[in-house]
Amino acid sequence: MRKDIELLIELDRLEDKIIRLKEIFKDIPEKKDVLQQKVQEAEEDLEVELENYEEQKSEISYLQDELNEINEEIATVQKQILQDTSKGKNVKSLEDNLFQLKRSKNVKEEEISASHSLLKDTEDVVNEVRDDFNSIKKEAEQFFSEIKEREGDFDSQVKEIEEFKAHILSKLGEIENGKELKTLYGQISEAFPGGVVAKVEYDSCSRCFMQITPQVLNELQRESGDEYSGGRVIRCASCSCILYYDANNQ
Ligand SMILES: [Zn+2]
Repeated sequence: MRKDIELLIELDRLEDKIIRLKEIFKDIPEKKDVLQQKVQEAEEDLEVELENYEEQKSEISYLQDELNEINEEIATVQKQILQDTSKGKNVKSLEDNLFQLKRSKNVKEEEISASHSLLKDTEDVVNEVRDDFNSIKKEAEQFFSEIKEREGDFDSQVKEIEEFKAHILSKLGEIENGKELKTLYGQISEAFPGGVVAKVEYDSCSRCFMQITPQVLNELQRESGDEYSGGRVIRCASCSCILYYDANNQ
């Protein structure tokens, strides 16, 4: 096998490794966004319910103040009735007043009791929504810490491959036409990210399946030995890949 072709194949293999690594990681940014969104929504739901709960609590305390006022008024009127009765005064209108106050008191107490049971329901909702929020938050935190680790792995793996690529490129540079090959490699890999080198199989380019003319096949077969490294580079007329013939693997 020609040394220059071998190096180009190695470069393709490394490039392919990077592409596959990127493929594995490509969904992660979207997953992160979705989870972050879920956490935010759960937090907003919790805030709404907490606000609702606080409103109902202050409503109860407002009703309680009103009830206290009524109780004070009742005490005042009752005192007045006692005083007036002892003085032999007519207390009819005070008694009517007291009757009305006691009715108001009953109504207020019912309102407070209804509000308490409503508050209890809201409390249950708050706890439920809080549990949801906590579990979503926990799930997100786990995912993020896992991803952070894997992203670190990804970065170091890519770095390792890039270093190896640089090493192969410098080896390529030592070959007679290495500079040209490097340039060619850059040009083709930009146009065809799937690989620069294509093996000839069944008289065809394994990349685009275009049939190779017998003359080109002859030349590829003839110049497939190591001694031809740095020699002529033959490209597929159809897909432009660099062709090679591997006598040991046909
Ligand atoms: Zn081709």
